[in-house]
Formats: sequence, structure tokens, C-alpha cells
Amino acid sequence: MSQLEKTEWIPIMEPSLVGNELKYATEAIQSGWISSQGPFVTKFENQLAQFNGVEYALAVSNGTVALHLALVSLGIGTGDEVILPDLTFAASINSIIYTGAKPVLVDVDKDTFNIDPDLIKKAITPKTKAIMPVHLYGNPCQMDLINIIAKENNLFIIEDSAESIGSEFMNSKLGSLSDVGTFSFYGNKTITTGEGGAILFRDKKIYEKAKILRDHGMSPTKRYWHDYVGFNYRITNLQAAIGVAQMERIEEIISRKIEIAQFYKKNLKEIREIKFQEIPNTGTSTYWLVSIIIEDDDRNSLGLMNHLKSFNIDTRPFFFPLSEMPVYKSYSDSNLNVSKKLSLNGLSLPSFIGLSDLELETIVSKIKNYFNG
Ligand SMILES: *Cc1c(COP(=O)(O)O)cnc(C)c1O
Repeated sequence: MSQLEKTEWIPIMEPSLVGNELKYATEAIQSGWISSQGPFVTKFENQLAQFNGVEYALAVSNGTVALHLALVSLGIGTGDEVILPDLTFAASINSIIYTGAKPVLVDVDKDTFNIDPDLIKKAITPKTKAIMPVHLYGNPCQMDLINIIAKENNLFIIEDSAESIGSEFMNSKLGSLSDVGTFSFYGNKTITTGEGGAILFRDKKIYEKAKILRDHGMSPTKRYWHDYVGFNYRITNLQAAIGVAQMERIEEIISRKIEIAQFYKKNLKEIREIKFQEIPNTGTSTYWLVSIIIEDDDRNSLGLMNHLKSFNIDTRPFFFPLSEMPVYKSYSDSNLNVSKKLSLNGLSLPSFIGLSDLELETIVSKIKNYFNG
């Protein structure tokens, strides 16, 4: 293929539904159980618990309500503070604001793009109740240090693992390293149910409370009697049917994602302007999105993104720092320089498992062609 030829449109992510997804969804429809009762929900929850090595998993309608339900189940609300990174998807901070608690934004590490544990320590006040580390793009946070800080200060941890199912830190799955961990199964995530999410729990009591809150706060033993002001955060049997099929293929999905990341790393290593997100040596990433920083005084990520777009190759800019947006500005009082810099210089490359080797080679050659002229 010539350097100037356009390829077919290569998206950044797309779901892979080539296993039993259609079969199980059809089964759900044929059975009539398309709402939130039915066998696939429990099956999906059991798969999630087992895969992540935890006792309790609860599937919910999406990753945002997973965070909200986790926070409420831990008793976090008005008057409390929750520390989170400045560089994340807005759902992380929104879920805290819904509870009435105050989010406290701290800066991230320039190499891992994840929350900086030293800055967590500095942000703790007598009102701090919890830390919400976000494993950005699949990359594990320093959970050993964060767990120590939480223990010393009597804080909960809510791991936002929306982007990192299957990633590990010190041989444990992300989402299983703290009080609660959440996932998203939106269509562009590593596994999908269309819309969907889940929470992992260590503590049986918190799990049971969350299960009641998921279902309108209704007593499980006395119908239409409500012990809490609850929510309807249930997932449907139809969505869970897709989830069960995705979980059957999770090892295959993860190994292809890792292969794709390794291909980019190997083939772009001589481009000195490109720096990959650094994975801690005590952890592994499942690379929701393979993410890079452009280290070049004259160019930011926009130039490469436009170049790739002209060849029909999709990319994604990093999130904007939350502290830059007027709606969230008041939740940070210092200048969060690293997240600002990463946001300007970072981009994510096509990372879905259906990418062919030929497409990967094309993407790499267009990137080389941008830097080498
Ligand atoms: C996707 C995502 C969410 C929210 O998940 P939804 O299922 O879209 O509600 C939360 N946090 C992070 C970091 C995400 O990437």
C-alpha cells in the first residue's frame, strides 16, 4: 500500500460480538425474560466474582451508577470529601457530586498518568472519607501505597476500574484490591453489554446493602416495604446475556489487546518523540486504549491526530483535566500541571481486538511517516 493511499476507516474501538453473544441474547428474548429477572444476571455476576477472585459481584445498569451505588453503600455523603485524580472521565467526579460529598482533585504522575500517592497524602483533611483511584486506560495505580495511606487515615477506597478489567497489581485483579471496585461495560470498553456496569465487594454487609439499594431500596423479604431511599440501577437479563458470552471470551480478548499494545511498542520504539504510558513493574495492563505522549517541543498530539485522520485512522485525545472545566473548577485549589500537560500531548491509538495485522502495520507506517517526513 502506498504511503498516501487512504485505508478503510479504522475506528479506535469497536465491540467484538463473535462468540455466544447472539445465541444467549436470543435465548433471553425467547424465554421472555428481557427485564432484570432471569438467569443471565446471576450467571454474569458469578463469572465476574470468580474471574476477579472476590466473593461478591453486583451487576448494574452502567459504570457511572456502579460508582454512585458503591459510594452510597459505603455511607459517603454530604460533609465528606473524596480524593480523585484530575485526569479521568467525568463520570468519576459526577458520581461523587451526586452523593453530596465534595470531590478533591489531585494531580497525576507524568509517566503512569495515574493519581500520585504523595499528592493524595497532602490532600487529606479531617473530612476525607475515601480515595477514588482510577486505573487510567487499563494501567494499575500504585495500590500498595494507596492502601497504606487509606489504612493509616481510616479511609475507604473505591477503585474506578471502568477501563481496566483483567489488569493486575501484585497478582490481584484491579477492582479487587480495595473495599469496592467498579467496572463499565459500555460499548467501547474492554468487554461490553451495550450499557452496563458492575461492583466488586469484599464485605458481605456492604454488598447486601448495595443489592437492596439497586432495587429501589426495597426489603428483600417484605415486598413494597422500603428500608432505604433506593434506586433502580438494575441490569437487564438481555444485557447480562451478552455479558456472559463476553466473559466466556475474556482471556482471548485480553491476550489480543496485549498483543496489539506490544506490536505498537515494538514497532514505534525508535520514534524518540513517542513515549508510551508506563506500566508499573508490579502490575500488568490490559490496555483498554494504547496511549502515548508526544514529547516534542514543536508539536502536540493534535498534529499526529489530524495526520492519522487524513488517512481514515481514528484516535482519541486524552480527557481534559477536570479542573479546567468551569463546572469542576472549584474542586481544585492548586495548579494541576501534569494533567494539563498530558492532556495536551496525549492520544490513544486504535485498540480493538478486531484490528488486523495489516491494519496495525498501516497505522504504524503512517505514524512513522508523520515523524520521519
Ligand atoms: C467509562 C467510564 C466510566 C463510566 O462508565 P459508563 O458505563 O459509561 O457509565 C467511569 N469511569 C471511567 C474512568 C470510565 O472510563
